[in-house]
Amino acid sequence: MSDFNSGSLTASNIHLAFGNNKVLRGIDLHVPQGTTASVIGPSGSGKSTLLRVMNRLIEPDQGDIQLDGRSVLQDNPDELRRRIGMVFQQFNLFPHKTVVDNVSLALHKIKKLPKDQARAKAMEQLELVGLAHKADARPGNLSGGQQQRVAIARALAMEPEVMFFDEATSALDPELVKGVLALMTDLAKGGMTMVVVTHEMGFSRNVSDTVTFMDAGVVVETGSPDQLFSEPKTERLKGFLSDVL
Ligand code: ADP
Ligand code: MG
Repeated sequence: MSDFNSGSLTASNIHLAFGNNKVLRGIDLHVPQGTTASVIGPSGSGKSTLLRVMNRLIEPDQGDIQLDGRSVLQDNPDELRRRIGMVFQQFNLFPHKTVVDNVSLALHKIKKLPKDQARAKAMEQLELVGLAHKADARPGNLSGGQQQRVAIARALAMEPEVMFFDEATSALDPELVKGVLALMTDLAKGGMTMVVVTHEMGFSRNVSDTVTFMDAGVVVETGSPDQLFSEPKTERLKGFLSDVL
C-alpha cells in the first residue's frame, strides 16, 4: 500500500443523477489520513449528496470510493458506514432516550458491547465533549450546541476512521456555534481524518488542510486555504467568496 493512500479517503470521478438532474458530474476528492478537507459552495451544488455517496447512503452511477487505497464499493455498505462517522445539521438524536443512551445505543446494538461497557464508553465520550453532567437529560432539555456535541460524541464513540460533518453548525444560534467549532477544531488538530461541508469560512480557512469549492456538481477549484481564499482563480469562486465573506 502506498503512503499516498494509507488511511486516506478518495472519491474518483463520481457521477450521480436524480432522474434528469445531474447532481454530481465527475467529482474527485482526496483526503489524506489525518487531514481535514473542507467543502464549500452554494446551496444545491451537491455537497450533501457527495457526502452521502462517500458513505454509501446513495450509490454513485459511476466512479470509485477508496478507503486505505482499497475500493469499498464491493463491501457491505453497513461496514463502510461503521468506518465513517457522520454529523448532520439536524442532530438526529432520539428525543425519548437520555443523552447517554443516545451515545451508547449503537455501541451495544452494532458493536455488540455489553450494556455496562457501552454505557461506560459513552460516559467517556461525553466527558470529552464536556457533557457528562447531562448524561441523564433528554436531548430536548439541552441547547442546540450541546445536542450537536452529543451527536459528535455518539459518532466518535464508534471509533470511526473518518468523520463527515454536513453543515454541523448551520442550525445553531450564533452564540452556540463557537463551542461546536472548537470541538471540531480539536478533532482536526488531534489528527482525525475529516470532510467538513461548511458555511463557516473561518473554519475552512484556518483549520482545514485543503479546501474544495463545488458548484453545480463539479469541483471548480481545490487547494490550500491560502490558494482558494487569497488567490481564487475562477470568477465563480470569486463571486461566491464576495457573497459569503
Ligand atoms: P448542497 O448540499 O450543496 O446544498 P445537495 O447535495 O443537497 O446540495 O443537492 C444537490 C441537488 O440534488 C439539488 O438540486 C437537490 O434538489 C438534488 N437532490 C438532493 N437530494 C435529492 C434526492 N434525494 N432526490 C432528488 N433530488 C435530490
Ligand atoms: Mg447540503
